[in-house]
Amino acid sequence: MSEMMTTGQNVVARCRLLSAGVYSETQDGLFRPWLSDSFFQAQAILSEWMIQAGMQVRYDAAGNLIGRYEACIPGQAAILFGSHIDTVANGGCFDGLLGVILAISVVEQLSQAQKRYPFAIEIIAFGDEEGSAFPVSMMTSRAVSGEVNPEDWALIGPSGTVAEVMRARGLSCSDLSKAGRNAEDIIAFVEAHIEQGPVLEAQEFSLAAVRSIAAQRRGTVTIIGHAGHAGTLPMVMRRDALAAAAEAVLSVERVAVEFPYGAEGGLVATVGRLEVFPGGSNVVADRVEFSLDVRAGARSLRDAAVQQIENAFRDLAQRRGVTLSCAWQQDLEGAECDPTLVRMMQKAAESEGGSDVALVSGAGHDTMVMARRWPSVMLFIRSPGGISHHPDETVLEDDVDAAHRTLLGFLERLNLNQKN
Ligand SMILES: [Zn+2]
Repeated sequence: MSEMMTTGQNVVARCRLLSAGVYSETQDGLFRPWLSDSFFQAQAILSEWMIQAGMQVRYDAAGNLIGRYEACIPGQAAILFGSHIDTVANGGCFDGLLGVILAISVVEQLSQAQKRYPFAIEIIAFGDEEGSAFPVSMMTSRAVSGEVNPEDWALIGPSGTVAEVMRARGLSCSDLSKAGRNAEDIIAFVEAHIEQGPVLEAQEFSLAAVRSIAAQRRGTVTIIGHAGHAGTLPMVMRRDALAAAAEAVLSVERVAVEFPYGAEGGLVATVGRLEVFPGGSNVVADRVEFSLDVRAGARSLRDAAVQQIENAFRDLAQRRGVTLSCAWQQDLEGAECDPTLVRMMQKAAESEGGSDVALVSGAGHDTMVMARRWPSVMLFIRSPGGISHHPDETVLEDDVDAAHRTLLGFLERLNLNQKN
């Protein structure tokens, strides 16, 4: 790296370099799906940077790029840093990539100081977190953690099935499980990532440790009432599906706002889509469908909130004489980070001006997968404006500097902890 620039400036410049040209499929906005040409271009330059930072580089059977910086005694178990290098369409250049490039800057610093730990340090650049190449996500981290699902291989993207596109790139689905790592080879997984939300900015903190990743529940609610003429059907005789839906939406909001410990537990509930049938301005609606998304840092909290929402629904349906049914389509488990690692990351972040409170991540990350197998922790970096999955996504160079020092401090704490 140039002597004239701070680490933060260098890391940000590297992320920005990978936002266009050969590193993007589209030139009017960044798009780098898994297994695209731009994806392999990004891997190639990241691999060069890893080598420059003193790492040995290899690719696993899932096509993940992995760099390794040896321990004092070669062959020891590793602290694995990682995040994803794929993007959504018209995405930002820091989502995922920042965590990989920050980790390279950490190893670069160690190798310049000729410092090695009793553990190795590895960096993995995951390929498929966003699910923008196929209608499935986190296949590459699942391969590493040993959660290969052969049903994924037939899923179809714009250039063919997973199996076909992998074969065209010299990879094989049936080899995916070879990317699986032995539990004892990895001491911990660490993912630095932009927050993708407005909390750190509102609290005026640059950084925070993450203690869990939200468990998500998604479903569709259908309310059936009775259609009628807007002019002739008296109010007392109505079973208005839309008025019932309005009350249902407000009850979702009320439960989430008023739930005990909901705010601290990262509880959020959202109705983001609503459709009214028949949808005429002079017709009382007889059917309304809306989406429901409920998330919380712990599955138990999420399910307790879901229970209360369903109770509120039952009550209003009865009172209004409509039928209401709730079909749940998705139940994502979420993940707890390792409490000891969270405390270490929190202390390391705090001494660099970060928050003393660990956050819940409302968005999904590769850590969700890795935490099921290995003690894991995340570090969030403030997102100015809370903007993400958008070209305006950005970070502050000073925050990136603080994150770099925090990760170094975390390694120091981890090393002391390992000795004790
Ligand atoms: Zn991400």
